[in-house]
Amino acid sequence: MPTRAGTPYVYDFADGDRTMADLLGGKGAGLAEMTRIGLPVPPGFTITTHACREFLATGAAPPALAAEVVAHLSALEQRMGRRLGDPHDPLLLAVRSGARHSMPGMMETILDIGLNDTSVQGLAKSTGREHFAWDSYRRLIEMFGTTVLGIDGARFTAAHAARPDLADLPLLVREFQSIVRDATGVDFPQDPAVQLDMAVRAVFASWNGDRARLYRRRERICDSLGTAVNIQAMVFGNLGPDSGTGVAFTRDPATGLPGIYGDYLPDAQGEDVVSGAHNAVPLSELERLDPLAYTRLRDLLRILEDHYRDLCDVEFTIERGRLWMLQTRIGKRTAQAAFLIAAQLADEGLISWDEAVLRVSGQQLAQLLFPRFDSEAAGTALARGVPASPGAAVGAAVFDSAEAVRRAAAGQTVVLVRRETTPDDLPGMIAARAVLTSRGGKTSHAAVVARGMGRTCVCGAEELTVDAAARRFTTATGDVINEGTVISVDGFTGTVHRGSLPLVQSTVMDYFETGQRAPGLVDAVAKIMEHGDRVRRLGVRANADTPQDAARARRFGASGIGLCRTEHMFLGERRPLIEAVILARDDDERARALNLLLPLQRADFIAILAAMDGLPVIIRLIDPPLHEFLPDRTELAVRVARTEAAGRTPDPHDLELLAAVERTHEQNPMLGLRGVRLGLLVPGLVAMQVRAVAEAVAERRRAGGNPQAEIMVPLTVTSGELLAVRAETEQILREVSEATGTDVRCPIGTMIELPRAALTAGALARFADFFSFGTNDLTQTTWGLSRDDAEASFLPAYLDRGLLTGSPFESLDPDGVGRLVRIAVDEGRATRPRLTTGVCGEHGGDPASVHFFHQAGLDYVSCSPYRVPVARLEAGRAALTTVSSKGAELSGAVGDC
Ligand code: PEP
Ligand code: MG
Repeated sequence: MPTRAGTPYVYDFADGDRTMADLLGGKGAGLAEMTRIGLPVPPGFTITTHACREFLATGAAPPALAAEVVAHLSALEQRMGRRLGDPHDPLLLAVRSGARHSMPGMMETILDIGLNDTSVQGLAKSTGREHFAWDSYRRLIEMFGTTVLGIDGARFTAAHAARPDLADLPLLVREFQSIVRDATGVDFPQDPAVQLDMAVRAVFASWNGDRARLYRRRERICDSLGTAVNIQAMVFGNLGPDSGTGVAFTRDPATGLPGIYGDYLPDAQGEDVVSGAHNAVPLSELERLDPLAYTRLRDLLRILEDHYRDLCDVEFTIERGRLWMLQTRIGKRTAQAAFLIAAQLADEGLISWDEAVLRVSGQQLAQLLFPRFDSEAAGTALARGVPASPGAAVGAAVFDSAEAVRRAAAGQTVVLVRRETTPDDLPGMIAARAVLTSRGGKTSHAAVVARGMGRTCVCGAEELTVDAAARRFTTATGDVINEGTVISVDGFTGTVHRGSLPLVQSTVMDYFETGQRAPGLVDAVAKIMEHGDRVRRLGVRANADTPQDAARARRFGASGIGLCRTEHMFLGERRPLIEAVILARDDDERARALNLLLPLQRADFIAILAAMDGLPVIIRLIDPPLHEFLPDRTELAVRVARTEAAGRTPDPHDLELLAAVERTHEQNPMLGLRGVRLGLLVPGLVAMQVRAVAEAVAERRRAGGNPQAEIMVPLTVTSGELLAVRAETEQILREVSEATGTDVRCPIGTMIELPRAALTAGALARFADFFSFGTNDLTQTTWGLSRDDAEASFLPAYLDRGLLTGSPFESLDPDGVGRLVRIAVDEGRATRPRLTTGVCGEHGGDPASVHFFHQAGLDYVSCSPYRVPVARLEAGRAALTTVSSKGAELSGAVGDC
C-alpha cells in the first residue's frame, strides 16, 4: 500500500534505477541499476529512506509499511521458489542499510534472517552441509544479538573462542541462545517475520547510532536524510572451496592505475572481507582458483565501468561457482587517483573534459599540494605495508581510539596503530594524522575509511606485531615501539619509520611553482586545471601584502590582488613609527610621523605593483584599531608597576604608551574606532596612504610598468563616510597627478563587511567603483559573534550536537550572510551596472563558498596564494554544475539541514 502521497515505501530491485539514490539509498540504487542492465543480482527489494525518516520522526514504522513488505516478500518467495522459514528448504534474507551517501560500516547489517531451530535442519539438508547450516545460524544469532538487541559482542566472541570445534556448532548455537535470554530476558525470536521486522527497525535506528552521527558530522552529511534498507535473498560464499566472496575495483583506487583490483576470500561470507579481520588474497589469486568466475567478474567490471563511466567498486559472492553481484557504487579513491582516473577517462573518450573537472574537487587538489617525505633521508623502514591512502604523516604512536582522541585534544599529533580497525575506531581515526594496521588490504575498513576522509593510511604491515594491551608494537627485527614514540607513516610508499622524517615539496606543488609538466599525476592535474580555467566565469585573485606573496599568487594563477592589507606593513621594526602617529600631540607632530612612513609605504606598493604588473591590485586603507599597533597592555602595565614598586620612576615613554593603550583598547570583535572611522578621525592617515599608492603608481609608470592600483575603504557603513574618504582620496590623486605629470587616478571602492552596508548597498554604490565582501567581519556581525570567542567556546559544542553542520567561518552561510551578499550585489548593480564585485574574506578559498559566489554572480574571489589553485578549480566546477544539482553542490555549506 503506497504512502498518502501515492509513493510506495518499498521498491523491487527491478523497479528502481541509479537516479533514485535519494529514495533508495546508494546501495539500493546500485542494486536496482545492476538488475536493470542484466547483471546477476540476488533478487530483493528496498525500503525507502522516506520510510526511515518517518520512523525516526515518530518512533514507529509507517503503518502502511508492513503490508508492502509482506507483498514484496511473497513475490520474492515465488520468484525464488522458496519460503522464509520453510522447514525443508528455507529462503534466507540479508538485511542491509544503505544511505544516500556511502557510510562504510557505520550502520547495521543482519544476515541469514529466516533461520530458526527447525529451518536450520532444512538448510543443512538442502545444501548437504550440516556445519555450514549451523554456522549460519550461529552468525545470525550473533549479528542479531549485537545489532538488534544491543548485546555486548564480546560475550559471543568469548563463547565462540571456548568452542572452536565445528562439531560443537549446535552446542554453540544453544549457548548463543542462552546469552540472548540472559541479556534480554526473552528468547531469540523463532518467527522469521519477527526477525525481519526487528532487523528492519534496527537498521532504521542505526542511522542515529554514535558512529553514524560522528561520521556524518565529519563528512557533512545531513542528519535528516535517513537510510534505506535492502532486503535480499542470501547467497553464500561459505559453501566450500568453489565459493567465496570479495571486493573489487575497476581500477586501483589508491594509485589510479588501470586494471582490476581487489581482494578475495575463499569459502567466506561478505562481511569477513570488509572488516579486515581475515587476511584476503589478491584478486589475481581468483584467476588461479577459478578462472571462469574470474573472467566473468572481469567482464562484469568492464560493463559496469563503461556503464557508469567511472571507477566502480563492487562486492561479489561466488556460490558454488556462480558469480553474484551484491553491491556497486562509484568507488572512493585517493586524491591522486581521482585526478589520474578523470584524466584517463577523458583521454579515453569515455567522459568529456567538463566531466573530468567535475570528477575532482578542490579538497583533493589541496591534498596533492602537501609535501612528501624525503626518500633520500628515509633510511631503513620499521615495516612496509600496503599504501592505502597517501600522505606523509608524523605523530606519536597510540594504540586505541580513546587515547588518540585524548592526545589530539591536548594538541599532540598522533598515529593510530591497530591490528585492524573497526567502525568503533572512527573517533580515533578522525583525531589521528595517520592510521597504521598490521592486517587487512586496500579494501579493509581502515583503508576505505581513511581514504574517504583523506587520512594517511598504511595497512597490512604484517611484519608488525601490534599489542594494543601492552600499548606497543614490535617489528620483524625485534624493535619495540612503545606508545608515545614518534613515527613517520608514508602513505605514498607504504613504509613506516621511527622518528620524524624530513619533508620535500610535492610534484604538484612544483608544477604550480614552475609550470613544468611531467607525465602521470602532474600532467593529469595540469590538463584538468587548464580545462577548468577555460570554463570558469569567476576570476580568482589573491590576498597578498608582500611582493613574495604577490609573485607566488601570480605563479599559482591569480589574476590580481583582491586584498592587500596595509596594516601588516606597520608592524615589526616600523612599529615605532605608527606609535608616533598614535601618540602625536598635535597635527604637526602627526604629520612628521606620517611623513616618515610615506616612503616606506611607497616602496612597499612599488614592489607589489611590480610583482602584479598589468593586473589589478586592490590596496585597502588601514583597518584595525590603533591598539593593535601598540605593545601588549598587560606586559606594559606590569613593567610600569614593577618599576614603581621598586621605588623607581617608570620610563615616561612607557607611561605614555600605557595611557594610549588604555585609551584605544577594544574588546573582540572590535567594532569601535577602526576601518573607515580611523581614516576619518586620524587626520592625515588616509592622505599618507593614498599618496604612497599614487606615487608608487607614478614611479612604476616611469619605470615602464603597467600598475593597476585600486583603493579600498574598509568597514564602511554609511554612504556619507564613503563620500568623505572618496573626496579626500580623489583630491590626493589629483595632487599627485599634477605633481608627477602622470594620471594616477584609479578605481575607489569599498568593503562590504557589515549588514547595514549590505542592506544599503544601493546607496554605497553611488560612491564605489567596486565592492569587496569582507565575509570574515560580515559573518561575525551577521551572526552576532566574535570568531575567536566562538571558536574557543561554544562552536565546537554546537558542531558536536549537530546544531550546525559546519563553522560559518569556514564555509559561507548561504541563508544568512549569503542572503546579504545577494542583496548587496543586486542593489549595488541596480545603482551602478558596471560595479565590480568580489569577496576577500577567508571564504574566497573555500570550495563550497566558491560555488555560492559563482551563483550569486560575483566577478571574482580572492584568497591566500596557496588556495588560489583550489579556488580556480572550484570556480571551474561551479561553472559546470547545473542548477539541478544546486543542493548537492552546496552540501558543504553551513546551515541547518
Ligand atoms: C573580512 O572581514 O572578511 C576581511 C577580509 O577583512 P579582515 O579579515 O582584514 O578583517
Ligand atoms: Mg574585515
